[in-house]
Amino acid sequence: MSHEIRTPINAILGFTQLMQQEPGLTQDQQQSLLAIRRSGEHLLAVINEILEMSKLEATKIELYQDEFALPEFLQEVCFLFVAQMKEKGLRFSWSGSGEIPSRIRTDKQKLSQIMINLLGNALKFTAGGAVEVAYAVKKLPGDSGTMQLVWEVRDEGPGIDAGDMEVIFSPFTQVDAGRKSGGTGLGLAISREYARLMGGDITVISQVGTGSTFRLEIPVQSAVGDVGEDRPGNGNKES
Ligand code: ADP
Repeated sequence: MSHEIRTPINAILGFTQLMQQEPGLTQDQQQSLLAIRRSGEHLLAVINEILEMSKLEATKIELYQDEFALPEFLQEVCFLFVAQMKEKGLRFSWSGSGEIPSRIRTDKQKLSQIMINLLGNALKFTAGGAVEVAYAVKKLPGDSGTMQLVWEVRDEGPGIDAGDMEVIFSPFTQVDAGRKSGGTGLGLAISREYARLMGGDITVISQVGTGSTFRLEIPVQSAVGDVGEDRPGNGNKES
């Protein structure tokens, strides 16, 4: 099913890109091709989210256990947003505290998708001020191998009404600012499903007019032989 939908869209996108490289295009033609390409890319993103949601609903999503370097991974995710935050005039910083293990085991792709979604929303909905990421890894009592990764994205955006704080995690739901944003309302639903599938959760604290804090908490396995290092302020960066 996903193949049948993605293949024709990729063909439209591919041929549009080829046509954009044709010499002698008028300005009108260039603008039309750009509009086709942007709409096609948006459509592909929406379809990918809808397909992901239907797979989650059909419980056909599998978890993978990747082993990777945690401090580098957290940096890379934040680095993805530096340029866009700067372009929008937002102060963007991130910092870690406590004992950050050097290597962990969890589903890397799903973890990065959740983090990118939370950061993408902070970027999209915040018009001015700061976006901050704070992360920590906590040891769980009685289990030496499992740790709790806590990742918070705090923004100074429009905030979310108390009555909407659960609603936004439902598929296709957008409130206030979200309705004008052109998104699908699926990002948070997918992110929460992923987090729960991984044994964790996403919660939000917010005040209208002040901003929002989205908190991801997820158990991760410290990779065997890892002793961890105390790195307060690990990866601290400001742009
Ligand atoms: P989308 O971003 O595609 O609209 P999401 O599921 O990611 O979908 O978010 C659902 C809704 O939650 C958004 O449309 C918006 O109304 C609200 N929302 C999410 N993140 C924030 C945020 N950081 N600040 C204010 N509102 C938010």
